[in-house]
Amino acid sequence: MSEVSDEDFAEILAQTRHFVRTSVVPRETEILAEDRVPDDLREQAKTMGLFGYAIPQQWGGLGLDLRQDVELAMELGYTSLAVRSMFGTNNGIAGQVLVGFGTEEQKSRWLAPIATGDVVASFALTEPGAGSNPAGLLTKAVRDGSDWLITGQKRFITNAPTANLFIVFARTRPADAQGAGIAVFLVPADAAGVEVGAKDAKMGQEGAWTSDVSFTDVRVPDAALVGGSEDLGYRAALTSLARGRVHIAALAVGAAQRALDESVAYAAAATQGGTPIGNFQLVQAMLADQQTGVLAGRAMVRDAARMWVSEQDRRIAPSAAKLFCTEMAGKVADLAVQIHGGTGYMRGVPVERIYRDVRLLRLYEGTSEIQRLIIGSGLVKAAQQRG
Ligand SMILES: Cc1cc2nc3c(=O)[nH]c(=O)nc-3n(C[C@H](O)[C@H](O)[C@H](O)COP(=O)(O)OP(=O)(O)OC[C@H]3O[C@@H](n4cnc5c(N)ncnc54)[C@H](O)[C@@H]3O)c2cc1C
Repeated sequence: MSEVSDEDFAEILAQTRHFVRTSVVPRETEILAEDRVPDDLREQAKTMGLFGYAIPQQWGGLGLDLRQDVELAMELGYTSLAVRSMFGTNNGIAGQVLVGFGTEEQKSRWLAPIATGDVVASFALTEPGAGSNPAGLLTKAVRDGSDWLITGQKRFITNAPTANLFIVFARTRPADAQGAGIAVFLVPADAAGVEVGAKDAKMGQEGAWTSDVSFTDVRVPDAALVGGSEDLGYRAALTSLARGRVHIAALAVGAAQRALDESVAYAAAATQGGTPIGNFQLVQAMLADQQTGVLAGRAMVRDAARMWVSEQDRRIAPSAAKLFCTEMAGKVADLAVQIHGGTGYMRGVPVERIYRDVRLLRLYEGTSEIQRLIIGSGLVKAAQQRG
């Protein structure tokens, strides 16, 4: 059961839609050109509670469950994906590690400022050579009296340039029969030995920032060990990522819907030799494929979110939804550029941005190949267990 009634959620959703369509959409070109989300939009998002929509109410969040989260994500996907990214780590991959695995003390210390957006939390898992295979990470945490010393290199860390808190995955021992040997720590960004690299220059999602983060003998107390256990880091990462996959799938559907709307509007108005291009059946076929993809994706996202909340499937459905919806959004964005002709290749035209923005969705929180491996191996394992 969600903490938020259908009635209250309808209001939150309507306000979010209004924010996206009237405040953010008109600023897309500015976000792109300046590679930043304007401060007034950040403030508006804070006031609306968007930094903590998926954080339970007990800790100051709005308390949406994943079924509601995906409806919001489909709205947020309709515009520059950087806006969602600004509060994506607080609600998602970083925040959910604390919600699901933190001690009471850790939750009361950090979740309230995360929910208000006064603290930006980043999820620091990926390293050079340990992306698709996080079990291979090399960042180390070594006990020193009652403290831990953390040393290692992370890369592509979303929101690192603005982060106040890093959720850092580090190895406390080599993998063994007991597990992956990976723990997770809460590391304030201003701790001595934390160095945040320059902002990465990316293909798209201008306004969303990533960078390398290095940790050199960073000293944290035992209280920084999430859940007070060395053994739950890997499980925390996988659980947080699996939940995030349903959210990313929803974001992809939102972006695809926008690409479709832009395509329909363009096809209805633009002409060749006096004929609207939308009258050509080959253009109509592209629109039909886009519409079909959006409808299929939306149904799949809702189903996967329902199965997550009921705990019926927290493994195969999230991966299948992410795989299908992010690949679908890629195809829909590609068709959108095609429908726009040369115009679709020009900066400042929404479908050009969407084409680049959605490319990332097939890469992070598990590539499409990794989703296929999870789905395929999960099916075979289940059959083998059934005997
Ligand atoms: C903009 C951006 C933001 C990001 N934000 C974060 C963040 O906030 N926190 C964080 O921790 N990480 C973040 N990441 C990292 C992201 O999750 C990884 O880039 C992603 O998981 C892929 O890992 P990789 O880059 O090391 O590529 P690789 O794993 O090297 O993959 C390269 C290719 O090999 C394939 N491949 C790899 N292993 C296998 C296999 N076993 N079988 C078949 N094919 C395989 C992949 O599918 C891919 O096609 C971000 C990345 C980007 C680009």
